[in-house]
Amino acid sequence: MKIPAMFAPNKTVFSFEVFPPKKTSPVETIYDTLDALHDLNPDFISVTYGAGGNAADTSTCDIASIIKQKYKIEPLAHLTCINSTKEDIDINLKRLQAGGIENILALRGDINPDLPPKNEFLHASELVSYIKAHSTFSVSAACYPEGHQDSPSLVDDVLHLRKKVECGADHLVSQLFFDNSHFYSFLERARIAGITVPIEAGIMPVTSKKQIEKMVVLCGASLPPKFAKMMQKYEHHPDALRDAGIAYAIDQIVDLISHNVDGIHLYTMNNPYLARKISESVSNLLRV
Ligand code: FAD
Repeated sequence: MKIPAMFAPNKTVFSFEVFPPKKTSPVETIYDTLDALHDLNPDFISVTYGAGGNAADTSTCDIASIIKQKYKIEPLAHLTCINSTKEDIDINLKRLQAGGIENILALRGDINPDLPPKNEFLHASELVSYIKAHSTFSVSAACYPEGHQDSPSLVDDVLHLRKKVECGADHLVSQLFFDNSHFYSFLERARIAGITVPIEAGIMPVTSKKQIEKMVVLCGASLPPKFAKMMQKYEHHPDALRDAGIAYAIDQIVDLISHNVDGIHLYTMNNPYLARKISESVSNLLRV
């Protein structure tokens, strides 16, 4: 099923993100995560691709196929382009098609100083156009409630986002954020700019201070005082911080659903405990 068809009035799409196991673990270790996630009935599960600028391999496609064939859940395969040639992308598209995948999240990818760009695709919009011209995949793209780090302004950022949609992206997934007001302001900018496709809000529960510090460096999300206070109080008490992080994420999601957002994309970090606690707390809210 194509992801845009999942959106309907009075329904909040609820989806998960997982990542391939580290290179040192066999790809099959993802079964433990998926076994524990699948009965939560997410509308779809996305699988990252060489995230953090790391070299990618076939594991995204392999895991997306497992999600579809074994768990009967729709997968969304991430695909980056900055370190790829057109030939590399063609190979990936063929592989994804053979795996029964129908949805791709088209990304530029982070720039890794150790992996010089191939210069055949400079922006995600070029990958979106390329996929649309050469296949029948539904194409999703990323968006940034607080603006992407490379963007000179929020206006430039939303204009570049509109370009991705004009090139064929029919669904957007947001970067994580900890202050919903950023997401609401972004939605207003996007809608004013004429972007009408469904936009899912990306929510990442905190599990440790180290994890959040890493994410803030990677994606530049700002930390509201309420969040910083929580981190400060519980930073040396991992179980308390995890529970506070779950409560914070649930609070964000309840507010987002009350504001009628199109969907929630939960960054599970392959942690079924977090995903279960959060999913069970909000499941009755998703279809009202
Ligand atoms: P683009 O849309 O190309 O935007 C990148 C920057 O270029 C922005 O500042 C944009 O405003 C600007 N820009 C766009 N078009 C133009 C133009 N024509 N002229 C000038 N400037 C322009 N990374 C991974 O490696 N693997 C993953 O699996 C992965 N998954 C992600 C999932 C989500 C939901 C999100 C939000 C991010 C993900 N990332 C992933 C990170 C992503 O690759 C980085 O944020 C990357 O730096 C930008 O990717 P993009 O697709 O948004 O790029």
